[in-house]
Amino acid sequence: MTERFTEQAVNVRCGSFFLAFASGSCTSCGGQTDLVAIGLPAGHERCEEGVWWSADEPVLLFDIEVLAPGIGAVLFDGCPQFRAVRSAGDNRSVWCNHCQSCGAPQADYWLHCEPGGAFLPLSPEMASSIDLIAVDLAFAARACGFSEGVPLPYAMRRSG
Ligand SMILES: [Zn+2]
Repeated sequence: MTERFTEQAVNVRCGSFFLAFASGSCTSCGGQTDLVAIGLPAGHERCEEGVWWSADEPVLLFDIEVLAPGIGAVLFDGCPQFRAVRSAGDNRSVWCNHCQSCGAPQADYWLHCEPGGAFLPLSPEMASSIDLIAVDLAFAARACGFSEGVPLPYAMRRSG
């Protein structure tokens, strides 16, 4: 089960968000699989120790523990491979990508923290294969990972 959504659980929010689509090799079976990450534009708000502040850079989120229910529905429609799993080792749920061939969860660490990973491209050229789609829907979540300074092509397509 995913943690129930409450306003208190949220530490990041924004009036809109975007989805970043990439592909990569499954860490379990080695097959190619579609991968998705959630990003927020500059001006999104974050809460640290009860104080909200506005961030002046776009960010990719990872290690997402709680997502507002409406966001989960968008993901279920557009990228069902991104869903919550109970994390091995500690007693919490995190949202992560799952291989489209074998179903194995793909750890955010390899996608977001490893230089050259699907969502940590080292150059604008590497980033050019990442497709961004903006979604005009209020966003709220609790995330533990924030990736800034990624050279994504922020001139993105709009949804709808
Ligand atoms: Zn696989």
